[in-house]
Amino acid sequence: MTIVTNRRKTIEFHIHKKSGNARTGILKTAHGEIHTPAFMPVGTAATVKAMTNEAVKSTGAEIILGNTYHLMLRPTAERIAELGGLHKFMNWDLPILTDSGGFQVMSLSQISKISENGVVFNSHIDGSRHEITPERSIEIQHMLDADITMIFDECTPYPATHQQAADSMRLSLRWAERSKKAFEKLKPSSSCGLSQDNSTGSMDSVQPKGSQNDKSGYGLFGIVQGSVYEDLRLESAKELCDIGFDGMAIGGLAVGEGQELMFNTLDYTCPVLPEEKPRYLMGVGKPADIVGAVLRGVDMFDCVIPTRSGRNAQAFTRNGNINIRNAKHANDTSALDEQCSCPACTNHSRAYLHHLVKAGEILGSMLMTWHNLQYYQDLMSDIREHIASDTLESYYQQVTSVYKK
Ligand SMILES: [Zn+2]
Repeated sequence: MTIVTNRRKTIEFHIHKKSGNARTGILKTAHGEIHTPAFMPVGTAATVKAMTNEAVKSTGAEIILGNTYHLMLRPTAERIAELGGLHKFMNWDLPILTDSGGFQVMSLSQISKISENGVVFNSHIDGSRHEITPERSIEIQHMLDADITMIFDECTPYPATHQQAADSMRLSLRWAERSKKAFEKLKPSSSCGLSQDNSTGSMDSVQPKGSQNDKSGYGLFGIVQGSVYEDLRLESAKELCDIGFDGMAIGGLAVGEGQELMFNTLDYTCPVLPEEKPRYLMGVGKPADIVGAVLRGVDMFDCVIPTRSGRNAQAFTRNGNINIRNAKHANDTSALDEQCSCPACTNHSRAYLHHLVKAGEILGSMLMTWHNLQYYQDLMSDIREHIASDTLESYYQQVTSVYKK
């Protein structure tokens, strides 16, 4: 085993323009820069489903998300590290953020035990037994060579009583401290640019072969929990700020609480997060959720909605949702969205897309996914322009008039 590591300076975040609580900025990572507010397509199993990397890039995406839980089970983090890290393995040379596995271990696997140490579970693929601890999660994300690593936390189920949410949030805080320590061990020199003890790295982790881990631009994000309880969110945010992270995520939302409670939670959570660091709202969301969250100061988003909806014949357009499977599109020669530049809209008619989807053709999933990802990147580009011109509030009204909630 090769002893890690040489990681150096952290990611950098520069805010360019503020308009109310919304802001535009640039996030600099080892594999490139991300214009914020940004949307990250979800590349669960080292692929954004139904898309080639070139197609994902063509939409304007500057970062994708990879899932620790899926990748640790198949093909395993060790194999990906052996093959040069996730960027090289999937030939995606732009930034990657990996989740910690916490959310999916709790939603997909058969949990055998959650303890102070971590989570023991059985794989949803073959039933094999695994354990994720904060240290193991950070080690896996390191082997994947993630530009942005997430702390290992427990995603509090919704609804939860105040006591359940408090216990869960405080367990996540203890795991946050352990995650930070584990990350620092893998990143011996976080600020001076010189590695001081890379000869004595204490974790037997596999260094991704040929990775860029010796370059600057790797960061660790904390995750605020506390369900929909203000006192718990504030306690979580304060304690995480004291531990110190390169960015702050807001977790445990978009789990069934509804848009109003989500916005309400952001209203009191965002103001207590460090102004100068990126803020990431995990797993959100629909177009109006995203614009509303940006208005409250959020910089980054990820969600399976555009890709999953695309595979289910649902399109997001500037005129609202379209179910292309609907019979009314069978003879329609117009484009899915006249203003969209994607291949589904510029090369094909609704009638053709309707036919592909009805016939179960793979190209139907590909084109519908491509379109939705283009819509989401166009949405983010519009958001950035409206922040620049101080007109985001009216843009929010425009989006909500098309997409209610
Ligand atoms: Zn399109």
